[in-house]
Amino acid sequence: MVRLNPKKLFDAVIVGAGVGGMCAATLLAHRGRKVALLEKRPSLGGRFSTINRNGYQCAVGGLAVPVGHNLEQICEATGIPSGVKPSTSVAVWLDGQYFDISRGGTRRIIKEVAEPDEAQRVIKALSEATTGEGPGNDISFKDWLNQYTHNPRIHGLFQATISSLLTVNSHELPAGEYFRLIRVITPLTFGFIEGGTISLWQRMADFIHARGGEIITTATVGEISTEDGEIRDVQFRHNREDHEISTPIVISNLGPSATIEKVGCDYFSPEYVEEIDRRMRPTALLWIHFASEERLFDYSAVSLGCTRRVNMIDAPSFEAEGVVPEGMHLYTVGAAPLNALQVDDVKVEFAAVMQDLERVIPDFDKRCTILSKTCYRGKWPGFRTVPGSHAGHKTPISGLYNVGDAACPSGYAGSMGAAKSAQLVCDDIVLQR
Ligand SMILES: Cc1cc2nc3c(=O)[nH]c(=O)nc-3n(C[C@H](O)[C@H](O)[C@H](O)COP(=O)(O)OP(=O)(O)OC[C@H]3O[C@@H](n4cnc5c(N)ncnc54)[C@H](O)[C@@H]3O)c2cc1C
Repeated sequence: MVRLNPKKLFDAVIVGAGVGGMCAATLLAHRGRKVALLEKRPSLGGRFSTINRNGYQCAVGGLAVPVGHNLEQICEATGIPSGVKPSTSVAVWLDGQYFDISRGGTRRIIKEVAEPDEAQRVIKALSEATTGEGPGNDISFKDWLNQYTHNPRIHGLFQATISSLLTVNSHELPAGEYFRLIRVITPLTFGFIEGGTISLWQRMADFIHARGGEIITTATVGEISTEDGEIRDVQFRHNREDHEISTPIVISNLGPSATIEKVGCDYFSPEYVEEIDRRMRPTALLWIHFASEERLFDYSAVSLGCTRRVNMIDAPSFEAEGVVPEGMHLYTVGAAPLNALQVDDVKVEFAAVMQDLERVIPDFDKRCTILSKTCYRGKWPGFRTVPGSHAGHKTPISGLYNVGDAACPSGYAGSMGAAKSAQLVCDDIVLQR
């Protein structure tokens, strides 16, 4: 067993360099803490990164940053440029028709696709649920909406928003969670990072290094050890050698279930282990990158409803520099499987996605080239759990925290939720120690 740089003392070890891990390491470095960040993969950013495929900065996982929210707040607090370019042209596609929503428009669309009485009823219900107490989590969003309308285009509109934003279908999302999220996130604008998401993680890595922190990639954490209910050290494998780092604090970005696994479930109460088991319900997401010489539509972000599976097509090259080879455009397609919690047949799911693409973009095969197709699920999911089933950032072990999209409070999700969990963890650590 080799000790890594035994003279160096770390205030905290962060395990995993996803959004939560990168933000936690950056915030702690900003507050004067010496951190070590260990990442299994060769690159940073986890499920919110980019990989260069022949000059195309293809998103590994997410790419759209909620403008002005937690990730950008962390950049502002630390003085790191976020590089986010807000989407200036956004639309909803419903059954063949584009609705420009660059300056908002859910209510306008409802009025356009429904009879006046029906539109009024739905808008009133939405307003009351958003400003008042709202429904509970014991009813799905779809069932909640069915109380006011069965209009397929209104359902399509919300299915598009929910599945593109939250990686579940509207029948799988607890209604209460939808309204909590809308209260936090409105007004909602997304943006893309110039040069690809990886460029932000590189800026954060430089910031951490400049403050005495260490980042080790291709470092796989095997065990997080505790002694008398407190954190003692982290063991990991790097360059075919075993290492360990002593530390009083571990911030795990692995997801609450994997955190328990790394510590050993005997160190937690059976009730805690069961509760985490019950809460973690990873979602699946179908993801396609394709390229075209053509600017296929007028919008850099389109949500799609009344489709088989596809819920969004983003065109980052319409807004951000440095993401494509000269003269080309890059498109990213997101789609929710029919059952986002249990995919039975990935081939069948992708076939439905391709049927949608042919419908939205006629002659797709002739005009576009597929760069990659990925089904995110299981241990490399869309979200680590359905919104509303989060585990929170605290654990029963002193000095052990979770960050990431399953460790945020209710009302947060995705990259925004992962960044929020890092803010909460850092506030706790700075207050306590
Ligand atoms: C296809 C897709 C599209 C999405 N689109 C968006 C979007 O547009 N906007 C948005 O806000 N959200 C989006 N999301 C959700 C968002 O990407 C995630 O919620 C967010 O990236 C989760 O970050 P995290 O902090 O949980 O870390 P994760 O991304 O889960 O990172 C965990 C890290 O830990 C590392 N690790 C694992 N095991 C070990 C080990 N033993 N030792 C060391 N390291 C280890 C992993 O390699 C990884 O880097 C999308 C997700 C997917 C999959």
